[in-house]
Amino acid sequence: MNRFLAAASLLALCVISAPPLAADAAPPAANGAPETGMWDLRDLYPTPEAWSAAYTRVRGQAQALDQYKGTLGKSPHAMLKALSAISDVQKEATRLAVYASLKADEDVRTAVNQERQQSAQQLGTLMQEKTAWLRPEIIGIGQKRVLVFEAKSPELKRRFAFQLDNALRYAPHVLSLQSEGVIAAAGDVFAQPNSIYSQLANGELPRPEVTLSDGTKVKLDQAAYTKYRTAANRADRKKVFDTFWPSFSAFNGTFGQTLTTQVQEEVFDAKVRHFPNSLADATFADNMPEAVYRQLVAQANRSLPTLHRYLRLRKKALGITDDLRYYDVYVPIFDLPNPPKFSVADSEKIALDVDQIYGPEYLSLLKQGFAGTWMNVYPHPGKANGAYMNGSAYDVHPYLLFNNHDDYESLSTFVHEWGHAVHTLLTTKTQPYENAGYSTFIAETASIGNEMLLNDYMVAHAKNDAEKEYYLGQGLELIRGTFFRQTMFAEFQLQLHEVIEKGGTLSGEKMTGMYCDLLKKYYGDAQGAMKVDPAYCIEWAYIPHFYYGFYVYQYATSMAGAAQFADAIEHEGAPARDRFIAMLKAGGSDYPYTLYKKAGLDMASPAPYEALAARMNRIMDQIEAIEAKKGKSQ
Ligand SMILES: [Zn+2]
Repeated sequence: MNRFLAAASLLALCVISAPPLAADAAPPAANGAPETGMWDLRDLYPTPEAWSAAYTRVRGQAQALDQYKGTLGKSPHAMLKALSAISDVQKEATRLAVYASLKADEDVRTAVNQERQQSAQQLGTLMQEKTAWLRPEIIGIGQKRVLVFEAKSPELKRRFAFQLDNALRYAPHVLSLQSEGVIAAAGDVFAQPNSIYSQLANGELPRPEVTLSDGTKVKLDQAAYTKYRTAANRADRKKVFDTFWPSFSAFNGTFGQTLTTQVQEEVFDAKVRHFPNSLADATFADNMPEAVYRQLVAQANRSLPTLHRYLRLRKKALGITDDLRYYDVYVPIFDLPNPPKFSVADSEKIALDVDQIYGPEYLSLLKQGFAGTWMNVYPHPGKANGAYMNGSAYDVHPYLLFNNHDDYESLSTFVHEWGHAVHTLLTTKTQPYENAGYSTFIAETASIGNEMLLNDYMVAHAKNDAEKEYYLGQGLELIRGTFFRQTMFAEFQLQLHEVIEKGGTLSGEKMTGMYCDLLKKYYGDAQGAMKVDPAYCIEWAYIPHFYYGFYVYQYATSMAGAAQFADAIEHEGAPARDRFIAMLKAGGSDYPYTLYKKAGLDMASPAPYEALAARMNRIMDQIEAIEAKKGKSQ
């Protein structure tokens, strides 16, 4: 999908990893109506046959789109006609893709579902082929003439001004037709590092077995590692680490070469497209200043004493008398013998309470969503993993997939994804289709913000100090995992690219050394906050996101933005809330950095990152106050 069209079709698809599926079956309903806890895809297409008929029709329309090639510069009317035609087909193709994708996720084992999804992907490729001329043609027309056209056609301006501006930005980075053809033809080759990585890390990597203290034998694949690294028994989690990481270390060289190739490819793209460096290339699509990325890294480094404070607190709470170790990071800092349970009805009620702060318009959309059949809630055999919101079907409504386990993590995921859903509803009621595709930066601020507000709410409503500490601990982990960990990844990625850009070389061994230095810095090895064992410094080889370009930093910046918004809404009330809602309503009508700015946040300044560090310190103040009270009463 080219970037000019990508925004609308990628409208906030957010995936959160979740534990594997439990095995309670959801039987199909006899009359085609959905079961309780099941979404109703008939709002998209009444039957699979109706989908097929629409597919044939839209495919024909897509085939005909190159009839508009060379017409855009003729007149404002001709430009509007061509862009509208493309947009209309794109909208319908996206709706087809949404249905195919959701249907496939109901049961990933069904061949007909897989084939439908393949068809939708082919339609996407066809759209790409049939509109590949579009951006070069707009660039050829030039900004001056485009602005004249917009002045003459209010409709053109209303629907397409942002997309036109976004296409024109690419002028210095688009190559000759011949060069673009060569790069496009090499696309499959460029996708190989990720494929090779995935083949090895998710497929062929030998999975060692470990015997836990209670005699349980576990084959340590990625899912088992995620589960057992949280073991309450310290010897068990050490054993899990000591067994899991050597399996990666054995392929240190291969992982290193694969990731080096990925980095080289990104450096190559930046060079041939006339970007000063690969970071500038990566942040260009969102028109995000490089300064935001660099400020994020600088500010996370400045806040490391806050992270170290958390690690010391963790050590004390876990009763560890020697050094805290990297395998002590995932065990819950405060656990409860019977952690609270939340049904979906509970989650809805809590979400409505938590989101009071956003005012009546937000709440009425949330209620509208809960009243609809938009959710696929419970795990069942064959269902896709994780959780997401898909709001790409502009004329319909968002759909949400969960694998609800009724625990706090599920509740947190619930408010996260509904944050995306309400964002989509606010956007679609305000923006034309063409401006509905919002960026991840804004999207994750809306959703992570909900998770932070939920955490505040649960702390405030806890029944006793033990429960309060349980939630405060969860709040701290959310910040460590989303802010510090992702920023450490971001810093690592930046370092890798800079090595290649300066003409240096990389290897698995070198990467492990670089990663070790970062782990020690972030986790305070020299400050005595944690002792980092070099055996675990192969962790970089476990992170698939390094093959998605500069990607992970968006979550960290979004969380910082959400922290500043939460403070502003708490202190200022309605004016700050209205700025936040206006930002959500703006959808994809402007660049995310500008939208933040209009809402009062400068993501290139220290303020958002300071707000997040302050929040983390406030959580720790609360824990220490409870601990001090405990100390006195003993
Ligand atoms: Zn999300």
